Amino acid sequence: MKADDVTDISDELVHLTTEMVEAMHAEKGIGLAGPQVGRMDRLFVVHVPEDNPRVFINPRIVAVSPDEGAYEEGCLSIPGVYADVRRPLEITVEAWDEGANHFSLDATGILARVIQHEYDHLEGILFFEHLSRRRQERLLRNYRKPGDE
Ligand SMILES: [Zn+2]
Repeated sequence: MKADDVTDISDELVHLTTEMVEAMHAEKGIGLAGPQVGRMDRLFVVHVPEDNPRVFINPRIVAVSPDEGAYEEGCLSIPGVYADVRRPLEITVEAWDEGANHFSLDATGILARVIQHEYDHLEGILFFEHLSRRRQERLLRNYRKPGDE
């Protein structure tokens, strides 16, 4: 399920982003998207090492590099599951921040990766859906504890 465009950067929404940053820190995550906290709004927060927390509202990935690389990803929505995912190494993203300022950001490294991961959440895509069917099945089989079904 895709998240909906934010039409109003209200005080309530800004407060939500603050709470999401706190929740992300509490879980030792580096990104958290609205749908992960039950809000089907197009917004996410990220905080990578040696950077400040960043808020992305109605983000659009407007450019991706042809160069791709694989890197291990995990997700707060499916704890304990990690897998190498191939993604473009550099992206340009446009969004609004919590102060309702529009910005454009060229991102590389872990920042580029987490932005793409969180953006996927807005599209209803989990990171392991980038993997082969076979690899997905193996991951999910290991994820389910005995007796879960
Ligand atoms: Zn995730």
